[in-house]
Formats: sequence, structure tokens, C-alpha cells
Amino acid sequence: MKITILGARGSIPTDGTEFSEFGGGTSCFLVETDSQAVFLDAGSGLLHAPDTGDKPVSFLITHSHVDHIMGIPLSPLFLSGKRVDIYLKTRNGLNAAGQLSALMNPPLWPVGLDIYPCEPVFHDTEFPFALGNIKVSGMEANHPGGSTVYRLDHEGKTLVYATDHEHTEEKQKELAEFAHNADLILYDAQYTDEEYQRMKGYGHSTVAEGLRVLNESGAKRMVFVHHDPRHNDEMLKAMEKQLGTDRALFARAGDVIEL
Ligand SMILES: [Zn+2]
Ligand SMILES: [Zn+2]
Repeated sequence: MKITILGARGSIPTDGTEFSEFGGGTSCFLVETDSQAVFLDAGSGLLHAPDTGDKPVSFLITHSHVDHIMGIPLSPLFLSGKRVDIYLKTRNGLNAAGQLSALMNPPLWPVGLDIYPCEPVFHDTEFPFALGNIKVSGMEANHPGGSTVYRLDHEGKTLVYATDHEHTEEKQKELAEFAHNADLILYDAQYTDEEYQRMKGYGHSTVAEGLRVLNESGAKRMVFVHHDPRHNDEMLKAMEKQLGTDRALFARAGDVIEL
């Protein structure tokens, strides 16, 4: 699996030179195998997506908070004639199509997805399922309104995408089991320990809680994602320096990781 970090900013995009190293685009990661192109979330980072050629394209969307779907309206992929398979769990009584059309319709957007040239195929999530020879499993995160943690298994390699997740004793235990022996975990570390004291219940986690999952799961590596929009490059670099392990780092937009 080849993973390209297209956007790792949380909550809202940022711009300016002080964000240039880690990037300002919101949640979007491209996972490629020989035969599949799978996007994890469709935040504004999606606008940086490379051409994936003839590979079938799927989106595994964690939840429809706007930072996770805001790349869709202007994505060249959705403006092409391609078939695009979209997986998103039914929430608030709305299926995948219903959740996307809440954003993509007047008055929030001038037109609906139905007039786009692409061919969207919507799926609810019933785990496990397969995208070619990638096995996709899911776990419910702890997040206001809900969010899905995805696990992708392909040819002996495992990637876990755990964003928009707030730690609890019980959930961390469940996540460590779900991510057992993963090669890589992408983990929501939006807040410092100090910030978290003020942000309890907002549905995000910390570096310390991520490292706990890294150790308890037996996973090889962790990349922190969903950077707080108030954390500039200098701050993220300082947080990274304090990690005290070479098995973890903060996601930089544009980086490519091979598993
Ligand atoms: Zn988010
Ligand atoms: Zn969210």
C-alpha cells in the first residue's frame, strides 16, 4: 500500500507561510495498491490528489462533518465522468447520499451532486467488505455525531485510520485491539494535554493517548493527523520533538508512506 498525505489539517483549512510545512488542507489521504485508489475522507486536501489513472476510485468517509467532505464540490475527480464509490455510514437518519446533499445543495452550494458529470455510487458501511483485494473493517469512534475508524488489510500489510476520535479507557482498549499489529496508524492528536483539559467532549485526542494505543496495539508506526488549525509549523515541530520515539511523527501534506 502506498499512502499519500493530501491533507492533515483538522476542523477548518489554514493558509499562510506559517503552515507551509505541515499543510493547510483538511483530512484526505490517498491509499493506492496495484489495482485500487482509495481515498480516506474527502476534505480540502482532495484538491491536491494526483491522477490515479484507470484504477477504480473509492472513498471511505469517516463522517460528514464539513472538514471531511469539503473537497468534493471542486474535486477534478467529481468533475470528471468517472464512477466514484462512496462509503459513509448512515447517521442522523441520513444515508450517504443524504448527508452529502446536505452540503451540496442550495443555499450552501449552488448545485447538487446529481448534475456533476461523475457517477457516484453510494454505500452504507457493513463491515467487513472488500475493495478489490483490500479488506475493509470498521469500528465506531468516540465523536459527537459519530465517526468511523477504518482498518485496511492488503497483502499482509495493515493501515488504521483513526481520526475524529476522543479517548476513553474503554475506547482505547477497543482501538488497541482493532489496530492489533498494524503497520501504521493515523491518529487524531489535535490537542496538547493542556488544551485537552479545556476541550473535553469535542471529540478529539492527544499525542499521549495516541502513543498509548501505539504501544498497546503492537503497531509499528503512528502518524498524527487532524492538526489543530491554531497549531502552526513551529508548534507542530516542537510537539514532534517531544515525542521521544522514532516510531511516530506528525503528518506533512505531500509525504508518501510505503507499507
Ligand atoms: Zn474533523
Ligand atoms: Zn468531526
